[in-house]
Amino acid sequence: MPNKYDVVVVGAGPAGSTAAKFLAENGVNVLLLDKERFPRPKPCSGWITPRVIDSFPYILDHGDLIDSYDYGMFIHSPSGQYVAKIRRDKPINASVLRERFDYGLLNIAIESGADFHAPAKVNEIRIGKGVEIVLDDRNIRAEAVIGADGARSSVARSSGLFTGWGRSHTGMCLVKEFRVGSDILDRYFTEERYSHIHVSFSGIHGYGWVHPKKENLNIGVVCLHSKMRFNLMDVLRAYFQMLKSYRVIPNDLSPEHCVGWTMPYARTLRRTYANRILLCGDAAGFVNPFSGEGIYYAMRSGEHAAHTMVSAVNAGNFTKKHLSAYQKAWRKDFGGDLKTFLNISRLIFGGLNESFVKVSAKDERMRNLFVDVSSGSRNIKDCKTEMIVRGSWDLFKDLFGAL
Ligand SMILES: Cc1cc2nc3c(=O)[nH]c(=O)nc-3n(C[C@H](O)[C@H](O)[C@H](O)COP(=O)(O)OP(=O)(O)OC[C@H]3O[C@@H](n4cnc5c(N)ncnc54)[C@H](O)[C@@H]3O)c2cc1C
Repeated sequence: MPNKYDVVVVGAGPAGSTAAKFLAENGVNVLLLDKERFPRPKPCSGWITPRVIDSFPYILDHGDLIDSYDYGMFIHSPSGQYVAKIRRDKPINASVLRERFDYGLLNIAIESGADFHAPAKVNEIRIGKGVEIVLDDRNIRAEAVIGADGARSSVARSSGLFTGWGRSHTGMCLVKEFRVGSDILDRYFTEERYSHIHVSFSGIHGYGWVHPKKENLNIGVVCLHSKMRFNLMDVLRAYFQMLKSYRVIPNDLSPEHCVGWTMPYARTLRRTYANRILLCGDAAGFVNPFSGEGIYYAMRSGEHAAHTMVSAVNAGNFTKKHLSAYQKAWRKDFGGDLKTFLNISRLIFGGLNESFVKVSAKDERMRNLFVDVSSGSRNIKDCKTEMIVRGSWDLFKDLFGAL
């Protein structure tokens, strides 16, 4: 491996591999580093919205990156009294096994011409006339670095762009994936793979989920706002108990030995660029504060970061002024959407959770609007007014028992 590159991308998750692919395709001499050997596991529920495939259709050309599709979903209210059932002829979401999906994206980057080196933990980056990337056993030089090293990004810390999420800006998840086989999944979730979302289960600012894939069953809880006064493991145990008592899942599944992970919530970094540095994906805080979706934003920001870096390499200009084009690009693309989803998240998890499911269960148009904006098939900007007007009217009718 050479010791000098135009651009080094740190982290080979969806953000980093996407950035590396677009850089290599545009003739940039790029090295992708990860602290883990691949394929590597990644705690995740593994839903990807149709807009991921619309934006990056090449993932369909590469073997088995998509594991299965789901066509149906049940959304349960906190009391359990209301259930919104959704069924579509077209897939609502695709499902992936992250170990396989991330490895596939990495291979696409390598096929496009990126160099890859792992295990290679980046301990520090030093920014001067170029960038020095400090690994355990060697230093590498580059003109610039893209930090795609996840929620605990060392690039964000070393570059001074990370000033702390704070407790109220960190989501917590617990998740476990079981290999149960397609026969059992067909029996419990039909061939259409109906998933379940339990809004604000046990009062959390988030939800519990049951996500059947082709052969695997993924179950977890996410608390998107971590001013927690409770133990999330207790919530997960209670969740399994409830699911078993209603025969949603087989009796022999246990939540013990699940995996815990944090995710940035409700806050993107104020600045995602510095001299010779760009941050994307979780490292920049790009997670949907309503659904917890992050893969789409990771890949979109990886692509935007690559395009800005290509222009910097061509101009030989890596100043923060030049690289600020990246922030404009992602803000225009999805910055406004993240803010709107934050307001929706605060409204629903902050108190309207029961009403939200009741309205979705009774008003088909509202239900479809929510599915469309959550899956990205309609832009939240275009539906915002309709959702506010219709939602308010539904709530008003509900007050008088007319919903
Ligand atoms: C439990 C859970 C469930 C989720 N479910 C979904 C879902 O269903 N759908 C969805 O869209 N999103 C989901 N998300 C969010 C999604 O997983 C992330 O938003 C997404 O993985 C972000 O991609 P990334 O490339 O930015 O970071 P990551 O996928 O975290 O990749 C970062 C990479 O950087 C490497 N790295 C870290 N530090 C260093 C270092 N110092 N040196 C070198 N390499 C380093 C890591 O090994 C890793 O490979 C979920 C998250 C959690 C925690």
